[in-house]
Amino acid sequence: MDIIKLSAVEIRKKILNKEIKCTMVVQAFINQIKKNEKYNTVLEVFDDALERAKELDAKIEKGYIGLLAGVPIIIKDNIFYKGKVCSCSSKFMEKHVASYNSTVVEKILNEGAIIIGRANMDEFAMGSSTENSAFGVTHNPLDYDRVPGGSSGGSACAVALSMCPIALGTETGGSVRQPASFCGIYGLKPTYGRISRYGIVAYASSLDQVGIFSRNVEDNALMLEVIAGHDENDSTSSHMAVESYIKNFKLQSEKISIGVPEEILKLIKNMPCEKNLLNFIDFLEKNGIKTKKISLKDIELCLPTYYILAPAEATSNLARFDGVKYTTRSENAKNLQEIYKESRSEGFGKEVKRRIMLGNFVLSSGYYDAYYKKAKRLQAKITDEFKRAFLECDYIIMPTTIGEAFKIGSKSSNPVDTYKEDIFTVTANIAGIPSLSIPFGKGENGLPLGIQIIGDVFKEKDIYRFAKFIEEKLGE
Ligand code: GLN
Repeated sequence: MDIIKLSAVEIRKKILNKEIKCTMVVQAFINQIKKNEKYNTVLEVFDDALERAKELDAKIEKGYIGLLAGVPIIIKDNIFYKGKVCSCSSKFMEKHVASYNSTVVEKILNEGAIIIGRANMDEFAMGSSTENSAFGVTHNPLDYDRVPGGSSGGSACAVALSMCPIALGTETGGSVRQPASFCGIYGLKPTYGRISRYGIVAYASSLDQVGIFSRNVEDNALMLEVIAGHDENDSTSSHMAVESYIKNFKLQSEKISIGVPEEILKLIKNMPCEKNLLNFIDFLEKNGIKTKKISLKDIELCLPTYYILAPAEATSNLARFDGVKYTTRSENAKNLQEIYKESRSEGFGKEVKRRIMLGNFVLSSGYYDAYYKKAKRLQAKITDEFKRAFLECDYIIMPTTIGEAFKIGSKSSNPVDTYKEDIFTVTANIAGIPSLSIPFGKGENGLPLGIQIIGDVFKEKDIYRFAKFIEEKLGE
């Protein structure tokens, strides 16, 4: 039996049936991480993972049956795990140790998960390639010369390389779905408020959500079931009841209708993803699922809207990293003013500085109305357009990315080229709705492509049903 190829659901079952032990499982995945060090995926393997596995084996002997019993998980480096470094892949935070558990970590530990390491990312989650990490780029698991996507590139690569069956990432504007697509796996961005943000280092608080990577639909649903729900430590987390995502995947395929935005069809003309979306529509129709054209008039404006709102919020969120608390302090500083200035200048990377400047610019009194206020208005309009669209269809589909994973370094000279990568993914963040990227099709270099299944708010269960149907059809 090749343990690392098992799904989380299978691992748990085999552990509870006493076919394998947690220690064997954890050791197998740690070996896989060590074997693939050249991909620069995991920044740290937690040295107490095996100890925890031993404790769990003893608990399981006594009848413990947590939903993630013995399942090894890797977390993005911006998620607090008490006593462990949480660096956000920033030199500035290299020595920062989390003083408490994030709610998601608390929840998965309570269900018997074993967190085995923390994954590389773009510094402070700003980027779409993991090239902005202070600790070096992560390589695409299928083509070493290419990026894995970002900002949760390490988490995506870890799952694709079987270093763990499920990994956690975060989404502000596509950071789970885009790398999932580049690495050929599943990546969920849930409804805003579905998962607590407590203990997640904030990027743009009104957009941030924890997201889930997996190699199949069921594992993804299992993780959401564990981590979703209201949390009194995060007032933006929803009171909406959490459904059982893993029970009953049955889809009444003849009853559903799929919307394809005509603006997207126009936009993707001659893009590498065009043929793939058309193939997907064909595939659905062959399997008895009807698609129809819908309209999302301002969809193209999601990208500029996002690149105003996200930096604006980031500017404010990153103000706390000042060389006094959390971060390292410049040795060149002689007074308080210099502590702030020198520490921030030395600590933050280039992209983070760019975002801080952008954010301050769009919030400055002379430009506030022209940029920030306008972007907020557009966000309301776009959200409304989605709401109306969901009166006409159950799901909306669109490509996850423009094309396959790009070459390392190919877009770094012009940041706007990287921003453009997010054109299809930022839509769901702007509207606060859930979207799952599923692997479908290949590009001209044989690398994976993704399709997004987007649903109305809190329709994660429906999204999983639809995705499972597709997964099964593709497996036939
Ligand atoms: N690529 C986007 C950005 O750089 C999204 C990042 C994210 O979702 N964390 O802001």
